Order: sequence, then C-alpha cells, then structure tokens
Amino acid sequence: MKCQQGGTFSKGELKRYGNIELSPCAGVLNYGQGLFEGLKAYRKQDGNILLFRPEENAERMKAGAERMSMASPSTEQFLQAVKDTVLANKRWIPPAGKGSLYIRPLLIGSGAVLGVAPAPEYTFLVYVSPVGNYFKEGLAPIHLIVENDLHRATPGGTGGVKTIGNYAAVLKAQSAAKLKGYSDALYLDCVHKKYLEEVSSCNIFVVKGNTISTPAIKGTILPGITRKSIIDLARSQGFQVEERLVSVDELVDADEVFCTGTAVVVSPVGSVTHLGKRISYGNGVGAVTRQLHASLTRLQMGLIADEMNWTLEL
Ligand code: PMP
Repeated sequence: MKCQQGGTFSKGELKRYGNIELSPCAGVLNYGQGLFEGLKAYRKQDGNILLFRPEENAERMKAGAERMSMASPSTEQFLQAVKDTVLANKRWIPPAGKGSLYIRPLLIGSGAVLGVAPAPEYTFLVYVSPVGNYFKEGLAPIHLIVENDLHRATPGGTGGVKTIGNYAAVLKAQSAAKLKGYSDALYLDCVHKKYLEEVSSCNIFVVKGNTISTPAIKGTILPGITRKSIIDLARSQGFQVEERLVSVDELVDADEVFCTGTAVVVSPVGSVTHLGKRISYGNGVGAVTRQLHASLTRLQMGLIADEMNWTLEL
C-alpha cells in the first residue's frame, strides 16, 4: 500500500512475491528511510494460527516512522496487512512444534527525492518466510564476543528504532565475530564504553540469584517485544527484574546470561569473550533461562492458556 507524505495509506492488495520497482532517487536508497518489523505466526495443534503481540509491532513501527520523518500505516492497517498476508500463505506455516512463519512488514520511502529531505511517497508491504531456529545452536548455548571499537547506536541517534541503517552498522562486527567462530557480537554504549547495550538482533539479560537485569531503554537499544514479555513473565514468576545500566564487568559474576528476540526467542549464552578473556556459564542451558524459554514458547505456540492476553488467533 502507498501513501503521500502527510496523507494516509491507500487500501492494500495481495500480490505474488516478486521484485518491486523503485526510482534510483527513492528516499530509501539515498537517505535510508527504511523501517521494518519482525514477528512470527505459529500453527497450533488444532491447526489454528497464532500471532504474538502484533499490535506492539504496529506501535513500534509508528514510533520509528515518527523518528525517521516517514508516513506510517495505522495500527488497523498494519494488523490487516499482516493477517491477510499470513492467511494467504497459510500453507507455508510449518506444523505445530516444527518452526514458524516469519513475517516481515517493511516501510520505505519510495518517492523520488534529490536533495536531503523526507521522501514525498511511502510504500508499506509485508512478506513472509517459513523459518526454523535463528542460531544453528537452537536451544543450546551461543557464544558472544564483546565489540570494543564499533558501536551500533549513539545517544540521540536512531538505535532505538528498527531502521535499516542500524543493521548496516552491525554487519562488520557481526561478520568478524562469526569468522572467529562466535555466534554474534555484543555491543557496549559509545559514551562510557562499559555498559551493555544489545546483540546485533536481540536484547540481553544477566541473571544473578533471583535478580534478572537488562539494559534500560534509553534510545540506544531496540525496545524488544520479547524483552518486554520476558520482563513481565519473570516478574509474574517471582524474579526481581531490574532495567538499568548493566556494566560489562557484571558478566564475570553472572549465573546465567541470555538473549531475547522474535527470531532468537530466548537463547542461552554459553560464554562471552571480553578483552581476550572468556567468561563461561557452565554446561548446557541454565535453569532460569530454561524456565523463561518454556513459559514464552508454550504461550506463543498455544500450548498453555494465554492469561497475559498476548496472542491473536486467526
Ligand atoms: N534488538 C535488535 C537490534 C533487534 O533487531 C531485535 C529484533 N527485532 C531485538 C533487539 C529484539 O526485538 P523483538 O523482541 O521485538 O524481536
């Protein structure tokens, strides 16, 4: 669906997957006006489809569009486009317990613009793909390396919204980490260079006793929907959850570390390497990580009653 700057989006239509045409002067190609979302559809054992908190994705896209001077679809238009695309691709949703359908809503500045300015026209589209585990490890520990030189976000920048440029910024560190055999890079804040921010595509949590700490949302990390859900689930299960500055030094004494995200779900961290030293978190998956992973995935797959009212059944 399309929209002129300052206007509202037209009604959308379903199209076969294929290339889209863009002017070489499109805002997204020249000035980075691109935002995306990521969510998953799960098939329940009874065959029905579940979406997890899709209205949160709609709201996050709207907030991102505001930061990027872009037009954005209304929550209703976003949800309708997601539902229509998922239902049209129902046959691609893996059987219950065998994976999910990853849904990618994408908003771009498609109008032509030569001088630096917001594009005059925007395009919103949704595409989908069946997926399995994000990390090849599955629910097995991943290994991170702290990135000391490159940063993915600056205060006042766009690190807190899901804009395409943030992902371009992590590719170098992420590729270097993978070449060295790590699963991904862990970024620090760019001012003090000592507070944890996040991983290339997920948020991070540190467990010490009954306390679970995670970096506070201050504009330089993405406000993850999985992060928010895990905070609520952990609190409801009696853990103390702290959203605050978490120093990289706290990794040394942590009992467990885990990452959260739509793609990675809840991924246990087996080790973090910082300044050449490897900090390990025991063998296998920690008890807290395992418990939170189970609570979240059972809810997302419809295996337990959704007392949080987070799922939308199609
Ligand atoms: N941080 C970044 C940089 C991400 O790309 C993602 C994935 N969207 C997350 C965190 C986790 O967000 P969510 O739980 O909403 O998927």
